[in-house]
Amino acid sequence: MDQISTRQSLPAEPRDFGFYVDGAWVPAAERAVFTRHSPAHDVPVTRIPKCTEGDLDMAVDAARRAFDDRRWSGLSGQARAAVLLKAGALIRARAEEIAYWETLENGKPIAQARGEVLGCADMYEYASGLARSLHGDSFNNLGDGMMGLVTREPVGVVGIITPWNFPFLILCERVPYILASGCTIVVKPSEMTSATSLILAQILTEAGLPDGCMNVVTGSGSTIGQAMAEHPRIDMLSFTGSTAVGRRVVEAAGKSNFKKLGLELGGKNPQVVFADADLEDAADGVAFGIAFNTGQCCVSGSRLIVERSVADRFAEMVRDKLSRAVVGDPLDEATQIGAITTEAQNRTILFYIEKGKEEGARLICGGGALDMGQGQYIAPTIFGDVTPDMVIARDEIFGPVLTILPFDTLDEAIAIANDTDYGLAASVWTKDIDKALVVTRRVQAGRFWVNCTLAGGPELPLGGFKQSGWGREAGKYGVEEYTQIKSVHIEIGKRRPWIA
Ligand code: NDP
Repeated sequence: MDQISTRQSLPAEPRDFGFYVDGAWVPAAERAVFTRHSPAHDVPVTRIPKCTEGDLDMAVDAARRAFDDRRWSGLSGQARAAVLLKAGALIRARAEEIAYWETLENGKPIAQARGEVLGCADMYEYASGLARSLHGDSFNNLGDGMMGLVTREPVGVVGIITPWNFPFLILCERVPYILASGCTIVVKPSEMTSATSLILAQILTEAGLPDGCMNVVTGSGSTIGQAMAEHPRIDMLSFTGSTAVGRRVVEAAGKSNFKKLGLELGGKNPQVVFADADLEDAADGVAFGIAFNTGQCCVSGSRLIVERSVADRFAEMVRDKLSRAVVGDPLDEATQIGAITTEAQNRTILFYIEKGKEEGARLICGGGALDMGQGQYIAPTIFGDVTPDMVIARDEIFGPVLTILPFDTLDEAIAIANDTDYGLAASVWTKDIDKALVVTRRVQAGRFWVNCTLAGGPELPLGGFKQSGWGREAGKYGVEEYTQIKSVHIEIGKRRPWIA
């Protein structure tokens, strides 16, 4: 690496946060407080209130009032766009601060966090255009006596539950689009990573978002998250997290008010590499796809499905790439792979690494924890000779663990790629356009990459097939998801009487 290694300092004291309701901070006061330790440095970095169900009610009431009195949905698209544009500018201006707290709570490299935050600013800028272009449909073919309109109306109060792997990014893949639609919001971030969601709420107020349109309550998933899923006055819930908790959210929505759900769940994503690919490029992409965000990435390319004739050579190329990735202190500008975010996830990844060894997969590199003197780190790990029935080939590990499954024919590659309950994302690497298109068509996944991986941006939608979720976020699809459709028949002139 030729980057100059510079490192920011740790905070002298943990930063105290309140939670955010109706355009203002609510101090933690007599509530219990959760102290978050940096997973890379083992020091306390933030103190976050453990909100009560009463606090959640207060936030939902604020969002409900803000929606029902039309202070936001009643504005023109132009006025909503102005707020979103300002929010984008404020996020850019505070990118360093947001990236810093994201890194401290999550353990991801600061350079990566900064890139994510700047990408988020772009989401607000893009969604501002969608606020202005959102529209319905008209039917001028119903005869001279009738006109038909189809209007899109905001769903109402939207709850958002986010995980700890991309706390700011996942939030911003939703918030600007939801606001563009005219809805109001209550967010519950993962208790592990609440700081940047709280900072965002304040930024939106500064950008001119009316009070009550963006509220953030903090606390654990089993209390506040579950209460949100059950809440009768939340009209829609966007949940991002594990498939297991997603199932609980579906049950809770069914038992309460049948709230509309958007679900972004787990993945076990195939990367199909043909022998005719630019193997150097593909090896770099596969290494990136499994080690980015320490593999704690729902779209991580965790199953390498590689043509048998090049499998050993290609595995060696990926191993070589990963051996040169800079693992270390995420506050260091040169770091590419940071810490594992939570102790529970650290245990899970180590469990699966041991499972792979027990199952008889061939350990090519890594294979356990990395001792960096402090914090929790895991060496990028590759298993060869993996068979599709092995647990490490089927379960989402959510860590830097790559499983290699060789194939001989195109049909076999597609069958292995689809042999999973998930359908979140997939990549194909080949110079043959026909193969690329056949695989793109036949592999079941909501996001697809040809000769690249983990590409994204505000324009293209996100979401999964099969048990990876329901609905889409981002792009125009992401705004439409938060609207409901009303059809309107308009009589022109006098009605033909029912009773003459
Ligand atoms: P979890 O499902 O455990 O948690 C996700 C969120 O749900 C957190 O905010 C959590 O709160 C909350 N939560 C926990 N229990 C409940 C409950 N009973 N009711 C409502 N909310 C609850 O996932 P992880 O945080 O462990 O994240 C990893 C998982 O998320 C992986 O499986 C990954 O694939 C998936 N994921 C999917 C993404 C996608 O876009 N498809 C993106 C990122 C992750 P708390 O943490 O405070 O307990």
